[in-house]
Amino acid sequence: MAALNGAVENGQPDRKVPPLPRPLRGLEVKYTKIFINNEWHESTSGKKFPTYNPSTLEKICDIEEGDKPDVDNAVEAAKAAFQRGSPWRQMDALSRGRLLHKLADLLERDRVILATLETMDTGKPFLQAYFIDLEGCIKTLRYYAGWADKIQGRTIPVDDNFVCFTRHEPMGVCGAITPWNFPLLMLVWKMAPALCCGNTLVIKPAEQAPLTSLYIGSLVKEVGFPPGVVNIVPGYGPTAGAAISTHHSIDKIAFTGSTKVGKLIKEAASKSNLKRVTLELGGKNPCIVCADADLDLAVECAHQGVFFNQGQCCTAASRVFVEEQIYPEFVKRSVEYAKKRLVGDPFDARTEQGPQIDQNQFDKILELIESGKKEGAKLECGGLAIEDRGLFIKPTVFSEVTDNMRIAKEEIFGPVQPIMKFKSIEEVIRRANSTEYGLTAAVFTKNLDRALTLASALQSGTVWINCYNALYAQAPFGGFKMSGNGRELGEYALAEYTEVKTVTIKLSQKSP
Ligand code: NAP
Ligand code: MG
Repeated sequence: MAALNGAVENGQPDRKVPPLPRPLRGLEVKYTKIFINNEWHESTSGKKFPTYNPSTLEKICDIEEGDKPDVDNAVEAAKAAFQRGSPWRQMDALSRGRLLHKLADLLERDRVILATLETMDTGKPFLQAYFIDLEGCIKTLRYYAGWADKIQGRTIPVDDNFVCFTRHEPMGVCGAITPWNFPLLMLVWKMAPALCCGNTLVIKPAEQAPLTSLYIGSLVKEVGFPPGVVNIVPGYGPTAGAAISTHHSIDKIAFTGSTKVGKLIKEAASKSNLKRVTLELGGKNPCIVCADADLDLAVECAHQGVFFNQGQCCTAASRVFVEEQIYPEFVKRSVEYAKKRLVGDPFDARTEQGPQIDQNQFDKILELIESGKKEGAKLECGGLAIEDRGLFIKPTVFSEVTDNMRIAKEEIFGPVQPIMKFKSIEEVIRRANSTEYGLTAAVFTKNLDRALTLASALQSGTVWINCYNALYAQAPFGGFKMSGNGRELGEYALAEYTEVKTVTIKLSQKSP
């Protein structure tokens, strides 16, 4: 938070640092309906569902509840927008990029509104929503805006009487099913590459936090995307979500969420039309701290790595392996950090940790904490809910954790740091890899040889060396093993939103 916390330094106002943005308390929610063809619709069934503020447990508003008929309407709109000769298909690639840049401009203009909505709906600290989620969204849109007119095929040398080249064409109608932990960011990670490649979209945001996704509908219209290019159907997973994953006219689906639902989506895709699927399904990420590491850095990164976003991160550093010589000191310092972590009103600029997203997640985390106590881990601090305050949980650190304990095996998705001990590099490689997940890993060491040995041996889509959560729009992100299929972000994501077409032409004139 040091970088965000610049208004007053050494008791003197620092003139170089702009004042911190302030949330719009009491902000009225404007967009609660289904967005199809750049228009707002009520649900076909007439049903609505509530979205809550997890800090206060109060209902924010009711949202139109989309189901299969609404998904069908959205798909029809997206199909029509994708048809040959439509304004979207006729638009030149540079103009598609310009629209994405304009969307980024509007996110910059409405950044405080969007960060406020995200905090109301998810409970994440406002400054984190503003500086991390919104920053990531804007950069991702700008990155893919730049790609729109650079997606090129190749000319392939073949027989002399033939010309052969490839075209990288958009796939068609893409479904996006997003989670509640980074609702807007996970949407933009899918929307930006999909649109830059020329696809159309049907989006189902997570039921717990649909507000920022719906707000994006209003911006899509204001920017001037042709009707039907982006459609947003809020609703529940087993109804609206399943209608997307089983739909015969959806050509590709991108999903972020649980492994359980990821499997359902892949199954639905194979039972329907074999639509392309990219999945990002979380992890049980090892964070390896060697005895020669910069200890201050490692303790802070491991702390932020697991507690950031209330622990509700697919990248959470939820298995910390510490070399035995420094284990007691590492645990002591980690406990000091956890005890200092400020939990409270996410609109308060000092707050580092808000509430968990909902009762289900809250109960699941407390149950896993209990399992840690019962299975013999040493509870160093926390371990309880904060009384009389809804869904808030005390930052929790466990030491003496062994690999067979549930807290060392299951994705906790909460503010819980399990710390283990290791003796040798070979041992820690084996233990770090003995999980069905493979999303991220982190290594703290000053020894280049060790760093590179671990970077090559760890089975995960990302390895961070002496840093954590260093994510860039231009660097691919995704998982090995059951952490997912395919990659989001970077140039690699373009392949997930394009089909390659080979065109081969026979020349009528024979070469002399
Ligand atoms: P989830 O059920 O996987 O939810 C993710 C998205 O999938 C939501 O939009 C959800 O809709 C939708 N969905 C649910 N069932 C579906 C179905 N049958 N077909 C199509 N879509 C469906 O995740 P969760 O229940 O909210 O959280 C459970 C656990 O998942 C967490 O504890 C955490 O371990 C993991 N998780 C991981 C990530 C990540 O970043 N990888 C994010 C969130 C959760 P609804 O909103 O209606 O459920
Ligand atoms: Mg909510």
